[in-house]
Amino acid sequence: MQIKRNILLNPGPSTTTDTVKMAQVVPDICPREKEFASMMKGIRQDLVKIVHGKEEDYTSVLFCGSGTINIDVCLNSLLPEGKKILVVNNGAYSQRAVEICEYYGMPHIDLQFPVNERPDLDKVEATLKENPDIALVHTTHNETGTGILNPIREIGALAHKYGAIFTVDTTSTYAMRPINVYDDNIDFCMASAQKGIMAMTGLSFVIGREDIIKKSKDYPKRSYYCNLYLQYEFFEKTGEMHFTPPVQTIYAAVQGIKEYFEEGEEGKWARHTRVFNAIHDGLDELGFKDVIKREEQAGLVVSVIYPDDQNWDFMKIHDYCYERGFTIYPGKISTTNTFRLCALGAIDEEDIRDFFKVFREALDHYGVKVPATYKE
Ligand SMILES: *Cc1c(COP(=O)(O)O)cnc(C)c1O
Repeated sequence: MQIKRNILLNPGPSTTTDTVKMAQVVPDICPREKEFASMMKGIRQDLVKIVHGKEEDYTSVLFCGSGTINIDVCLNSLLPEGKKILVVNNGAYSQRAVEICEYYGMPHIDLQFPVNERPDLDKVEATLKENPDIALVHTTHNETGTGILNPIREIGALAHKYGAIFTVDTTSTYAMRPINVYDDNIDFCMASAQKGIMAMTGLSFVIGREDIIKKSKDYPKRSYYCNLYLQYEFFEKTGEMHFTPPVQTIYAAVQGIKEYFEEGEEGKWARHTRVFNAIHDGLDELGFKDVIKREEQAGLVVSVIYPDDQNWDFMKIHDYCYERGFTIYPGKISTTNTFRLCALGAIDEEDIRDFFKVFREALDHYGVKVPATYKE
């Protein structure tokens, strides 16, 4: 079968290999069969291995949903009665965590920092010191809205120093940028299948410390479908998801994980880095500016500032590129007009060079000046 190859430069779902696409075409099977459960067991083990967790310390729990379900699950399930959550918030995805706290009415502190800066660790520590009832600290590893890399190792160390657990949204780094749950002080991290493992949307997973999950059995139950302990317990007893899993999506994830291990942690990170560098080279050549200091970028998302040019129209440029097989994505910063180019997925530097040929054509077609003009 010939499937058209599109280059997705949006922050997930990402470009997949044909072998991952085809892995979904399987004989019909009831997911309650033993054969299916044994496949789930393999996935759960592999997901822990990807972040170097030991089986005696860490486990993984799968959910049917997009990546946001993981943030919801971790926050609503891991907060003991009478305690508080601290969200270290410098972007759209940590803001989402704050909104989850609000929706569940969970006591929380929204510790805000500018979106283009790393959080101030002294302020994080001062907040922990002043609020001994903080039991859970949450932040985002790579703020996908801007591409900034947050100092999770340091934030995790502070959380632990003050007796809190540390949950990190690693959706846009997991299986891309190397993570080690021990070195990075992570109690819980998370991702979904359409990002780092380059499979399909609809399967998400939390990787975390089993002793803490067991303890959470007695924490307030704030959700039925999205409770971490309930899902964990069902997996442990039966090897299956509590409710119907996304069957074909899981076959694709198995293939994606297989390809992840074949490429290897270092090989994959080197490829994403090549792509990221090619994105920067292309932008530099056209005179485009980005938002985050280069040395603070996570190496996976570039957030580009709109040029001050009356002919610049993001949607027109988007459509021109889209018709030619390349997807670019709007930004997620409320105060600055930006768009994003991401290094996720089964793509390499040649794809980026091909993209920039088309992007350049689009600029010329609509009369956008090159090099790009900025007022200041
Ligand atoms: C993609 C992403 C998510 C999940 O978003 P969905 O729209 O639910 O798929 C969560 N956190 C981060 C950091 C992400 O990049």
